[in-house]
Amino acid sequence: MNVIRTLKELHQFVIEKKQAGKEIGFVPTMGFLHEGHISLIHLSKKYADVTIASIYINPSQFNDLNDFNKYPKNEEGDLRLLRVNFCDAAFIPERAQIDSLQKVSIDLGGLDMIMEGICRPGHFQGVVEVVYRLFSVVMPDKAFFGEKDFQQLQIIKKMVETLKLPVEIIGAPILREFNGLAMSSRNSRLSKKARDNAGFIYEVLKSFVNTERQILEKRLFESGFTLEYLEKHDFGGQRRLFIAGVYDGVRLIDNIELN
Ligand code: AMP
Repeated sequence: MNVIRTLKELHQFVIEKKQAGKEIGFVPTMGFLHEGHISLIHLSKKYADVTIASIYINPSQFNDLNDFNKYPKNEEGDLRLLRVNFCDAAFIPERAQIDSLQKVSIDLGGLDMIMEGICRPGHFQGVVEVVYRLFSVVMPDKAFFGEKDFQQLQIIKKMVETLKLPVEIIGAPILREFNGLAMSSRNSRLSKKARDNAGFIYEVLKSFVNTERQILEKRLFESGFTLEYLEKHDFGGQRRLFIAGVYDGVRLIDNIELN
């Protein structure tokens, strides 16, 4: 696997593959990789010829400096995981290189005025900024994003549509831990006890349709979960239920499709 740290090396790698007629699949991440990320690598390997994963903790999408500083990191472990899953290249840029790239700001048509957009002001403009910058240098034919961040996936689709970028955006289902907790790099900050007990979040989502909201809110409260939102939204004809809140000092999000 190629470990690429500069824009120059990346450019050489990308141009060489493109000249050989290869389609590039791209998986942007913030590192501390888990099976959820790896499922995106597998999808990219299935649908593209060459897979590039990026590892970059983007400061502009954090509205809370403390959250940014505490974001878990494990570059060595990430590279090992990418290697054993046959990822072709890991792009690990320095902040100055990303900051040197052209950025955009677009009208997200209200998509950023709900849920994460309200709870994390500026978050989605930060996401758009970094994903656009990464797309501009990776030049992927296909890019893969998890439904774990479903609102983010819609926002990336909106950005691609608005700017008419020549990249296909492919969403992937949420991978969960044994108890139903959605896999997340942030789960590593939960205590073992909290992580083992955290299956109640998925249980609440699954029982939403048949249970009174008050009962579900009580269940969340009694489990020690500080609810930020529990809301239904339609995206492209698909109705989903979304939850966010703080559990054991860690902010968690999850969602499911509602039939
Ligand atoms: P992150 O490193 O948290 O920025 O995530 C990088 C990509 O992995 C995003 O597209 C996420 O939606 C996706 N992802 C994170 N967790 C999961 C999961 N549990 N299942 C599937 N995809 C995920």
